[in-house]
Amino acid sequence: MFFVLRKPEVDSPEDRMGRTDAIKEEGFNVGDCIRCPTCSRPLSMLEWLPPYRVELESWGKHYGDVADIGDVLIVSERFVDVFRHHELRGLESIEPVDLVKVVHRRVKPTETAPRYFKATVVRSPTMIDQRASGYVWQDESKVCPECLFDTLKRYDRLVIKEETWNGDDIFFPRGGNGPIISDRFRTTFHEQGLVGAVFIPIAEDHYDFFPWESAAEPTR
Ligand SMILES: [Zn+2]
Repeated sequence: MFFVLRKPEVDSPEDRMGRTDAIKEEGFNVGDCIRCPTCSRPLSMLEWLPPYRVELESWGKHYGDVADIGDVLIVSERFVDVFRHHELRGLESIEPVDLVKVVHRRVKPTETAPRYFKATVVRSPTMIDQRASGYVWQDESKVCPECLFDTLKRYDRLVIKEETWNGDDIFFPRGGNGPIISDRFRTTFHEQGLVGAVFIPIAEDHYDFFPWESAAEPTR
């Protein structure tokens, strides 16, 4: 079983327990993005460079252990300890961030704010089965053979080619567009009482980048 990592829905129990958002301070420094060697498509956001300074917004009873989700996660010190102690794999360049401001919405956690860290999600040889996932391309003939991407219109679910999985517990798959989480990661997260994120089975994940087209096509 694999999952996608998401912030809790507004007003859900997970949200009230510990959603926390980290917002990068305006004017942060950036470097290059990773580009596909074949088609030059950007495969990542521009790299976030130091100083790592964020504003924190807490929405629940506790500070969340996952405060931002993307190429780079922003996670609590407790998250980093659990990740390392349980020898989970797939995060690199783990470095502390400075909290320049902490804002509390709804309630104020009784504990003091933890230290937070940035952690880069590894790019993996593990592949998405794009056909089984129901990928619809703008022009399938243009899909790059190296990065397996082009203009994607929508997908119905996500399916991993399990024989290509290298055992990482969090990773960017080839031919995908967001981090994927292992069952071991999810189980450890819950067993250790971490909060502030939810796990959606990849079979239930779907997205439409061209919703106006789907609305115009009653057959879909
Ligand atoms: Zn490419």
